[in-house]
Amino acid sequence: MATPSKVYFADFRTTLTENLQQKLWRLLDRAGMNQIDFDRKYAAIKLHFGEPGNLAFLRPNWAKTVADYVKAQGGKPFLTDCNTLYVGGRKNALDHIDSAYLNGFSPFSTGCHVIIADGLKGTDEVYVPVAGGEYVTEAKIGRAVMDADVFISLTHFKGHENTGFGGALKNIGMGCGSRAGKMEMHSAGKPSVHTPDCVGCGMCTRICAHSAITVADKKASIDHSKCVGCGRCMAMCPRDAILPASDESNLILNRKIAEYTKAVVDGRPCFHISLVCDVSPNCDCHAENDAAIVPNVGMFASFDPIALDQACADAVNAMPICPNTALTDQMAHGHCCEDAEHPDHFHLAHPDTNWQSALEHGEKLGLGTRNYELVRI
Ligand code: SF4
Ligand code: SF4
Repeated sequence: MATPSKVYFADFRTTLTENLQQKLWRLLDRAGMNQIDFDRKYAAIKLHFGEPGNLAFLRPNWAKTVADYVKAQGGKPFLTDCNTLYVGGRKNALDHIDSAYLNGFSPFSTGCHVIIADGLKGTDEVYVPVAGGEYVTEAKIGRAVMDADVFISLTHFKGHENTGFGGALKNIGMGCGSRAGKMEMHSAGKPSVHTPDCVGCGMCTRICAHSAITVADKKASIDHSKCVGCGRCMAMCPRDAILPASDESNLILNRKIAEYTKAVVDGRPCFHISLVCDVSPNCDCHAENDAAIVPNVGMFASFDPIALDQACADAVNAMPICPNTALTDQMAHGHCCEDAEHPDHFHLAHPDTNWQSALEHGEKLGLGTRNYELVRI
């Protein structure tokens, strides 16, 4: 068995002399984040700004603590995320920055700027080889993420409808993918035109480098024999009429996320922080957040993203289920029940998901180990 990775943990209890932000600072110190050479280095802090309407995303105060910590080590932090594949409040850089500001991530509250890593329309990407990749040879990663000298993930750990939970790997792998990258992870296929929404403007035909799109009778259509699935047409369409396929199995999706994570973290200093609070059953991409399925747990930090996700999952699964939540609904309707000795709240919330597959595949790729030692501070 691999040597255990250390995962540092602090609960959310406070004292009159130490608030939660100070406690997070102490956790980062104890976990060794100050061993990273930040001196005049650009440090990307990857987080999720929250879809407008969602109230479970991490408060900007947490981001400020991490940004201040980086600055105290001499680094130049910025907050970053990539645009979404789906149509919502974060589908291009302008809307995305608006959403970040609406949710409180302003330079005044966090002490650093927001940079949308894959640019205005989600097409500013770097092709990054995946060492040992079985599904992805070159990951398409937002440029600003790859331009950073140091990479830090700051993750809100919660449930996820496709991957079981949204932890560090999801935040890094899926979150740092450009629009084409996200499509590659979500889909084994190609996008299609939702004909009723198409007005025949032809903008998509001009961006397609593979001549896969034709417009006839004011309606576009995509020839899947020519399309390579780059996703650029989706970014260009002013009517959001080009929609991604979402036909990859959750098992393969998780493995691709692990491979994209590998592309992001390889070859530079990285550090990972996860806060297990407001554990909603679904992703912060939802414009609503259902009630937390378990009580708040605490904050975790590690150099190993696999060990970190495993430790967070174990901690959530060790908690009692909160009353009147999606989990009690599942049980009341008899959709699923838990093994009393080995509860899996994520599987109960989303029975067709398999979160273990991402960690198993990540371990195989050399991203880290599921064998961890929890160090409580
Ligand atoms: S860009 Fe959108 S609206 Fe314009 S032709 Fe293409 S699919 Fe139709
Ligand atoms: S996904 Fe890329 S290759 Fe396929 S139709 Fe759109 S622009 Fe063309």
